[in-house]
Amino acid sequence: MDELVIAIDGPSGVGKSSTARRVATKLRLGYLDTGAMYRAVAYECLRQRISRDDENGIRALVRNADLRITTDPSAPRVSINGRDVTQEIRQPEISAVVSAVAAVQEVRRILTAHMRQIITEQERRIVVEGRDITTVVAPDAEVRVLLTADAKARIGRRTAELGERADEATITDSIIRRDHDDSAVSNFTEAASGVVVIDSTHLSLDEVVEAVIALVPAHG
Ligand code: C5P
Repeated sequence: MDELVIAIDGPSGVGKSSTARRVATKLRLGYLDTGAMYRAVAYECLRQRISRDDENGIRALVRNADLRITTDPSAPRVSINGRDVTQEIRQPEISAVVSAVAAVQEVRRILTAHMRQIITEQERRIVVEGRDITTVVAPDAEVRVLLTADAKARIGRRTAELGERADEATITDSIIRRDHDDSAVSNFTEAASGVVVIDSTHLSLDEVVEAVIALVPAHG
């Protein structure tokens, strides 16, 4: 089978995970949520009470961590040091600290190597989503997409997703503040050369999925 790595980057709440999972299911590819890997490390820092300012502690933790993530788009799971944290990593407490953990270069180096290993194990047939996939992790991907949507649309989607649990301060923190902090580490606001921008502000999820699939050489 032909190699087909689809790299999707974009800011918080833009719909990367939903898009990537659907594309992977439709094209029978693996799926890798790289944000879940950073979140699992952040979870373990909180659990071990390592402060976000303790770079040495974070470095030691990530070097020794047993991080596992599955690539089945229908039921992705992530565990760290033997504990399944698939649900826990979605808590606002994790969103609040993950950017600081992801800013530690040793964390990025180790997780990037792990992501590349997973891409190889999947025989380069996988959809990978995050902030630096098109630029750092897999700049050689066959399809490279920057998914964007204006902040108002992203806040609206996250609010709808959370339903009754939505509170404005948490949502603003998880979108606006996180974009600000994360953009100091990765450039996911401008497309690198060869990366196609899909602005999803006025598109449905199905339309975004079709737009990504249309970029695949045999499907175009
Ligand atoms: O995609 P998600 O919002 O779950 O990502 C969680 C966090 O992981 C981001 O806010 C960012 O700090 C970090 N991240 C990253 N590089 C990636 C993916 C995620 O720095 N490729």
